[in-house]
Amino acid sequence: RPRVLSAMQPTGASLHLGNYLGALRQWVALQDTHDALYCVVDLHALTVQVDPADLRDRSRRTAAQYLAAGVDPERASLFLQSHVPEHTELAWVLSCLTGFGEASRMTQFKDKSQRHGSEATNVGLFTYPVLMAADILLYDTERVPVGDDQRQHLELTRDLAQRFNGRYGRTFVVPQAHLPSATARVADLQDPTAKMSKSAASTAGLVDLMDDPKVVAKKIRSAVTDTGREVVHDRAAKPGVTNLLDIHSALSGEGVAELEARFAGRGYGDLKKEVADVVVAALDPVRTRTLELLDDPAQLDALLADGAERARGIAGDVLARVRERVGLLPAA
Ligand code: ATP
Ligand code: MG
Repeated sequence: RPRVLSAMQPTGASLHLGNYLGALRQWVALQDTHDALYCVVDLHALTVQVDPADLRDRSRRTAAQYLAAGVDPERASLFLQSHVPEHTELAWVLSCLTGFGEASRMTQFKDKSQRHGSEATNVGLFTYPVLMAADILLYDTERVPVGDDQRQHLELTRDLAQRFNGRYGRTFVVPQAHLPSATARVADLQDPTAKMSKSAASTAGLVDLMDDPKVVAKKIRSAVTDTGREVVHDRAAKPGVTNLLDIHSALSGEGVAELEARFAGRGYGDLKKEVADVVVAALDPVRTRTLELLDDPAQLDALLADGAERARGIAGDVLARVRERVGLLPAA
């Protein structure tokens, strides 16, 4: 069974529809055919200032949402990044192989640092892709399910693996992207040219997995649509309508062409109403199950401890290989 690893940050109050369609749904499918590791990357979340109590809550909530969406701890290892200290050690070694210019070209850093302003931008946000490379390479990961927004970071990960292997001899598996077949990117409902993101300035355009069904319906009804009134899929001319069609199609399984035909001569209001129904039907069970899981934090923590132990079993071996290759002496 090929190994997959994927992760999300416990930033923002909760996961959103983009995380669900772009990632979680694939994770659930992949655990049938792959040796899967799913991580909550809490260290990455420290790149934005977060209240410690909030971070604890969010880490548990994120893990609960993985489970609620269908990640099965019997088949997949579910763990917190900070419970496996090997991640940060490998990140240091990899950062010494990363060019400053290379890191500076990461578009997500440029986007996020612009959004946060230079005051709030920290070195952690800059080196984030290196820690992400460590997350992946630490487990001899073969495939990484990532959304479109993470492709550049995965490219860097592959470059670092190849560079390390070239310099020190074959050590790392060079991972491949596993792109979800449909809906690689869900756009923000209020700004359909931007991706739906946990760290967006406003949550008006974000469908949170924990939003009450009424709130979900309202956000979709208020989605920014485009001039004209025809329901057609056209990313350049009609990004708002296109986003709604993509969301509908991804959740209902109905093809975009069929949807266009069905909504011909009907207008945006009808489309929004139906998209809201489809989204609520998909997400409400996830929300309910998440709340149940959060009712028993001790059980959740035990599950995470178990996942971390399994993860450390793999990470320890890979890191030992790295230490030896680069010339770090073993502690006698
Ligand atoms: P942040 O704004 O804090 O970076 P995020 O919303 O981008 O948060 P991440 O934790 O960075 O979420 O990403 C988790 C996973 O969700 C990744 O696999 C990413 O590709 C996917 N993902 C994030 N946003 C979207 C989106 N709008 N559409 C599809 N997939 C997405
Ligand atoms: Mg992101």
